[in-house]
Amino acid sequence: MKVFKFGGASVKDAQSIKNVHHIIGQYLGDPLIIVVSAMGKTTNNLEALLNAHMANQPTQELLEVIRLEHAKIVEELFGPKAKSALDDINNTLVEVEWALDDPEGLDKHFQYDQIVSIGEMLSTKIVSAYLKYVGIQNSWVDARDLIRTDNTYQNANVDWEETKKLTESTLKRAFSNQSVVVTQGFIGGTSENFTTTLGREGSDFTAAILAHCTNATDVTIWKDVPGVLNADPKYFSDTVLISEMSYFDAMELAYFGTSVIHPKTIKPLQNANIPLYVKSFIEPKAKGTIVADGSKPVTVPNYIVKKNQALVSISPKDHSFVAENHFIEIFSTLHELRIKSNTMQNSAISFSFSFDFDESKIILLKEKLTGFDLFYNEGCELITVRHFDEETIEKLVGQRDILLEQRNRTSAQLVVK
Ligand code: ASP
Ligand code: MG
Repeated sequence: MKVFKFGGASVKDAQSIKNVHHIIGQYLGDPLIIVVSAMGKTTNNLEALLNAHMANQPTQELLEVIRLEHAKIVEELFGPKAKSALDDINNTLVEVEWALDDPEGLDKHFQYDQIVSIGEMLSTKIVSAYLKYVGIQNSWVDARDLIRTDNTYQNANVDWEETKKLTESTLKRAFSNQSVVVTQGFIGGTSENFTTTLGREGSDFTAAILAHCTNATDVTIWKDVPGVLNADPKYFSDTVLISEMSYFDAMELAYFGTSVIHPKTIKPLQNANIPLYVKSFIEPKAKGTIVADGSKPVTVPNYIVKKNQALVSISPKDHSFVAENHFIEIFSTLHELRIKSNTMQNSAISFSFSFDFDESKIILLKEKLTGFDLFYNEGCELITVRHFDEETIEKLVGQRDILLEQRNRTSAQLVVK
């Protein structure tokens, strides 16, 4: 068994989907699970639609944009034979309308998952139908029949035991008379059959879950970059490809925020000793990066820049030292508000952390932590450099002020403004 994951950029238009067919055509034979994300910016568009709904603003036009984008791709792929795929899109989008019609006061995270998951439903139906159209028999499988989660909507936790049972039985049927399965990334289902999502960019994680549960030979994530680079080529021109890395290096890079691999992806693969390839869908023959046991350690400085950070500092109002009892209160509030700190530091009288800036969360945090003073700096950047040298750090910081700095033997983290 092999598992391939195609992200939003690799299925963003008709030409890209034809390229997916071209790649898959070279791997036919062994059983292959193809995990597909929502097309292009669909997830963002569905989020915008939900936000409009929550703010009591009209949603019809936003839904129409999503419909037209998908219809255009279908028409380009199927030409005069587009009717049944178009019907499928319209029927799938009716589910968004139903979800918007649901009673008011539903949990926002629950609503999010019911609506935003539709992006993956649309993309997989189109990809599956197109592969059939060009002669690749395949079975479209609903990921909710594969991945069982708890009901932590928008960030669901996998029930591994149930998922293992489900994947076994569902895939046995799906693979009974052909060798390709197409399924959705990012989504799962609860025991009550409600849809959940695994967190933004969660399709990589889906691929890892399915690989783990089927004991696949390997996983390939097809990207618009040549593999894992030492920095984001969107912001830096002098990047180098890291051709091999250990699970540990991959996990750290993902944890620090490199956008190539979703952080939860590595552990399930490492536990089952399944290699992960990150390859270019533009140059599918090129080697890319392999993440596996026994890889050479990464030594080239690699850096990750997280923009739009808020640096928050919290100190007890009574001027006491920040101690264990305060940490309990602070951390449980961060957990409750789903604030994920990207770096943290403690001094005698204050605790500081940075997170992806969200003003509404800062307001809530202030309300909850009544015994503390809270200050924050927005518009910061968090720079993480693994295998740092002074030159790299100086280059990245430039003329800016360093508001927080942390170093250990291998990594340096700096919040700058
Ligand atoms: N479509 C989802 C997102 O954009 C999941 C993914 O692409 O991995 O976050
Ligand atoms: Mg995506």
